[in-house]
Amino acid sequence: PALSEQIAVNIDHVSFSYPNQPVSVLNDISLSVQPGEKIALLGRTGCGKSTLLQLITRAWDCSQGEIRLNDMPLPAFDEATLRQATGVVSQRVHVFSSTLRDNLKIANDQATDLELKTVLEQVGLGKLLEDTGLNAWLGDGGRPLSGGEQRRLGIARALLHRSPLLLLDEPTEGLDADTEKQILELIMQHCQHKTLILITHRLQGLDKMDRVCVMENGQIVEQGHHAKL
Ligand code: ATP
Ligand code: MG
Repeated sequence: PALSEQIAVNIDHVSFSYPNQPVSVLNDISLSVQPGEKIALLGRTGCGKSTLLQLITRAWDCSQGEIRLNDMPLPAFDEATLRQATGVVSQRVHVFSSTLRDNLKIANDQATDLELKTVLEQVGLGKLLEDTGLNAWLGDGGRPLSGGEQRRLGIARALLHRSPLLLLDEPTEGLDADTEKQILELIMQHCQHKTLILITHRLQGLDKMDRVCVMENGQIVEQGHHAKL
């Protein structure tokens, strides 16, 4: 099946343990995200947030239970369809040893140089364009990027990808409060009609989300609007 319109995510009684690990990371977790809904996922370090996101991208398969997109179980989709439908900023953004242009175009090979430059300015990476523009070399032997710059590169990719489902794993970690506010606003603007799952440790911007879900021991233990939690 195709996945072009808005996407609903259904996490249905999912349990998961990593291969050859005795302890289970996710324990019968259930969570339904409506098409176009924006939710924040909070919880202590190690409670399983990133693992849950990785199950949605099928980096791993559930040990029990299932995850559905628009009521179809994940294994029903082919890999390319899933990749096209989900924009991911993982906790560690990978920088390829290649040009700035290539590092962005892996998210969208149709994007024009003008679009790439616009997105770079939006995420505050305009200064990378100063010397050699989009030909600037990154990665090994290239211009080193700070942690915050890597994160913004990840966000630029997610914006270029234009997928109906966005999965962001602490996209503003390591950014100062002002930059964080700007980036969150940019993300929310971009996501108006998209489904968003945002993992965060920070409280900034939670009021803009439709729902905040708190994880503990591989389960959702509390959820609701930020103002009511
Ligand atoms: P943080 O807020 O620190 O990012 P998290 O909620 O994202 O934490 P996860 O990364 O999902 O937590 O990790 C949940 C548990 O799974 C942890 O105990 C971690 O040690 C374990 N874990 C994570 N990745 C692997 C892996 N590849 N193999 C085995 N265990 C793993
Ligand atoms: Mg994590």
